[in-house]
This record gives sequence, C-alpha cells and structure tokens, in this order.
Amino acid sequence: MKAYPTGAAARDRFVVERRPPREVHDPWRAQGLHVEDERIADGTIARTATVFLTGRECPWRCVMCDLWQYTIDRDTPPGAIPAQLAAVRAELDALGERPSQIKLYNAGSFFDSRAVPEADYHAVADGLANFDRIVVESHPSLVGPRTRHFLDALGAYRRSGRRPPVLEVAMGLETAHAAALDQINKRLTVDGFVRAAGRLRQYGAALRVFLLVSPPFVPRDEQDTWMLHSVDVAIASGATAISLIPTRAGNGALEALATEGLFIEPTLADLERSTAAALEHIRGHGSSLRVFADLWNLDRFASCLHCLDARRARLTKMNLEQRVHPPVACAHCGGAS
Ligand code: SF4
Ligand SMILES: [Zn+2]
Repeated sequence: MKAYPTGAAARDRFVVERRPPREVHDPWRAQGLHVEDERIADGTIARTATVFLTGRECPWRCVMCDLWQYTIDRDTPPGAIPAQLAAVRAELDALGERPSQIKLYNAGSFFDSRAVPEADYHAVADGLANFDRIVVESHPSLVGPRTRHFLDALGAYRRSGRRPPVLEVAMGLETAHAAALDQINKRLTVDGFVRAAGRLRQYGAALRVFLLVSPPFVPRDEQDTWMLHSVDVAIASGATAISLIPTRAGNGALEALATEGLFIEPTLADLERSTAAALEHIRGHGSSLRVFADLWNLDRFASCLHCLDARRARLTKMNLEQRVHPPVACAHCGGAS
C-alpha cells in the first residue's frame, strides 16, 4: 500500500479508489426496518423502530465508512423519504408493532438537503405522529438552521394540541484521539464536535454519540484508554446515549490500512470489554445516560460459535439493564476471543 496520504482530497481518493462496486437501490423503498427494545432515559424499556432510509450518498469519505453501499449516487427525489416512511408505518401496522421511538438512519446526514430534501420536512414530520422520540443522524457540521427547521416541523404538533416528539440527533465523534480523528478523514475535530453538541442543546434537541470500538490509527495498547476519553467527551457534550460501534472492515480502505498495521478489526471480546468499561465509567452520571453496544452483525466478530449466542444475550442484557453482567465462560474458547 502507498503510505496513507496526508491531505483531505488525497484521502478522499484513497477511500473511493478502494471501494467495491455498489448495488443499485430504489430511492422509493427503505433499505429495511428493525424493531427492538431499548432502555430509555427514564429507565423503562421502549419498543424502538430503526428505519434504514435510502437516499443520496454522504458527501464525506470517512476511511472506516461502508454506509455508501446503501445509498444512491444522485439526489434523493422530493417525496421519496415521506413515501418510504409511509410504507414503514404500514409495515409496522402489519407487524402489530406500536413503537414509541423511531430512528431514521439514512446512511449519511439527515440534515444534508441532497439526502433528505428540506422541502420534505413537514411531510416527514406529519408521518411521525404517535412517536415520543425521533432519532436522526448527522455529521456535526450540518447541525444548524436545517435542524431548527425540522424541529419547527415537529413543533407543528403543538398547534394541534399534541406534545411534539423529542428530537435526538446521533453524531459520530468516532474517537477523541485528535490525530486519529483527523486521519479518519471526517473533517471533524473534537472541538467541532463539542460546538455542534452545544448547538443541539441550544435548540432543545438531545444528543446520541457514536464511538468506534477499535478505530484505525489508535495504537492497540491505547484503545481502551481512548475509549474512556471519548466517553468523557460525549458526557461533557451532554450525551444521553452513547453507542459503541465495532469498526467493520469491508470497504477496501480498512483492509489497506490493516496491511500497514494501522487498523485491527475488533473481536467480540473487544466489544464486550469496551462496553463493560464504558458502563462502569458512566456510573454516577445519572440513569438517563446510557451506553449501548451495537449488536448488528455480531457474528462477524466472533471466532467461537459455541458461545456466540450466550455472549450476544449478555450484551443484550447489559444494553437493557445498563449494568455489567459476568463474562460468559466457554469450554471451547475460554470466552476470550
Ligand atoms: S460522515 Fe458518516 S456517513 Fe458520511 S462518510 Fe463519514 S461515517 Fe460515513
Ligand atoms: Zn467460545
């Protein structure tokens, strides 16, 4: 591999040149719907729907990101996002599900108007009646006037005598390791993240923070320390939820970094250890602050199939109860990999 470049434009090229081909997606159909339980800030458990929306690709080229494969290469057509949501509501009805939270994840930034047209905000808000909380994701630099506009659209419920849903914005800090964050190519600094979190507070929106488990460029023996520093930045920024996302290889760029020793994909044990450490670390910050291990596609991180189900169940309980459970004992692997 050529050395990892230093300039942002060269890093963009490094990432794009290594991508595998992208499938063609229909912008009038969501990528999927997932319904699960999540512990909410008051300590109760809420049914939570996650909708994976289809829309225009994110304009950034973060070195660890593989979300572009679920996107389209042109602007999202006006009306497509409300149409996807209408289909999702019908699917929820058919499933007999009445979730109180909904996450609208568009593999980019909700406040990128080429991904979610601003003209659709009112139609999107209209389709979110009956939800107490709406979670969207955004790059921190796009938290601004469009966030306000969407909050205004949600606020329209007030005029009809209903309480508007709370807006929660999920932002990826990824890591508080400043040099690694720069190399990740998100064009974000820790200060920039903190400022965006301040804007959210000012608007009255809640904050969820995504942190990477085993981010590239952070030396292996410093990963645990930087995870806790990153949790501290999330807490200081006013987060009420912190999601730990294992860094997933597969986009070509991470494989190239791995050959240089700049990235090591986390194991299930890394995710378990990080989750337990973060849960211990937030103790004393109040029950509204929660840490979640991201369990999507967990089997790819496991090297022992004998204990995978038990370890997934342990992490699920830790997510729901917000306390550390004893590690799984496994006669085959010792529960350590
Ligand atoms: S900002 Fe988010 S969606 Fe965009 S490239 Fe980076 S990680 Fe991926
Ligand atoms: Zn095992």
